[in-house]
Amino acid sequence: MKQIQMVDLKSQYKEIKSEIDNAIKEVIDSAAFINGSAVKNFSKNLEKYLNVKHVIPCANGTDALQIALMALGLKPGDEVITSDFTFIATVEVVALLGLKLKFVDVDKNTFNLLPEEVEKAINPKTKAIVPVHMFGQNADMEEIMNIAKKHKLFVIEDTAQTIGAEYTFENGKKYKSGTIGTIGCTSFFPSKNLGAYGDGGAIFTDDDELAIKLKQITNHGSKVKYFHDEIGVNSRLDSIQAAILNVKLKYLDKYISARQEAADFYDRAFKNHPKIKIPARDKQSTHVFHQYTIQLSGIDRDALKEHLNSKDIPAMIYYPYPLHLQKAYKYLGYKENDFPITEELSNKVLSLPMHTELSYTQLKYITETVLEYAKR
Ligand SMILES: *Cc1c(COP(=O)(O)O)cnc(C)c1O
Repeated sequence: MKQIQMVDLKSQYKEIKSEIDNAIKEVIDSAAFINGSAVKNFSKNLEKYLNVKHVIPCANGTDALQIALMALGLKPGDEVITSDFTFIATVEVVALLGLKLKFVDVDKNTFNLLPEEVEKAINPKTKAIVPVHMFGQNADMEEIMNIAKKHKLFVIEDTAQTIGAEYTFENGKKYKSGTIGTIGCTSFFPSKNLGAYGDGGAIFTDDDELAIKLKQITNHGSKVKYFHDEIGVNSRLDSIQAAILNVKLKYLDKYISARQEAADFYDRAFKNHPKIKIPARDKQSTHVFHQYTIQLSGIDRDALKEHLNSKDIPAMIYYPYPLHLQKAYKYLGYKENDFPITEELSNKVLSLPMHTELSYTQLKYITETVLEYAKR
């Protein structure tokens, strides 16, 4: 059996090696390393895939979130509501811009923002909601968009883990993750579902004016070279990364299916187990399984992780410590028990190997090892 990886980027590369190598070579031959045609082609193709008017590429997912907040003209002291159970990047940019963070607890089954908690956190200073589509599944966008409309709030979707996931509203309308709110932000970090061979990110919007503004901010606040209408940043997607992503985008749906098949295997193995809770599947969202995350009760999570590691099975804890208790965010004044679900999840979650190249033999070995341990 091939060595099991948390994310097997080497095996995935082997399958498409000649296409990727050619794409990289073309960029090098053209020497158009910055803003080359590969970047434009990729943006166009991603717009088509997502059915969104504008894709603005940038340097990484964290920048995408920062630029989105900058483009909305939020002022220091304005409040932004987001999930307590997410990767730090989501909240860091809010703090960096001098905006006030308002954490909200998550659903214990889907790991996504609880709309009723969002509504409770709203006050006259609230300007935006940042739903994080956790582990590959869209947040409850039906409710979140209703709340946003009612209170006239911007919605910035963090779809770093969920590119390609589809959301169906009660009226039957379907959208790709990141194209529902005011702005969508994603990451092409290598281990993400659409991963580059380095850093990358993108911002999505249907709003023409906002698109101009977003583009301008990524380019030093400038539309016309050496004339700066506002304070911007330097955030670009490399042509080489765009060329790689252009190849991989063609395979994204196939990659999603491979992840879903692996998840189905895990589901079947662990379903109805008294100590292992499988990730819930939302009725309105497809799940693209950036992570397959189980919750353990009556099993020492950390001991199981070590046991798996000793059997050459990697497993990871996303995320081991709630954001509201992190040292850097002490100034917000949150304390223990403020977000009980996130606190509980931090102690219970374990993510199993999840990628596009998992074999039947590997999945069988992983699930049997977990189930064997759970008998103890
Ligand atoms: C990865 C990730 C980001 C940040 O993306 P980078 O490209 O690493 O900057 C933001 N939010 C979430 C939820 C992520 O998983």
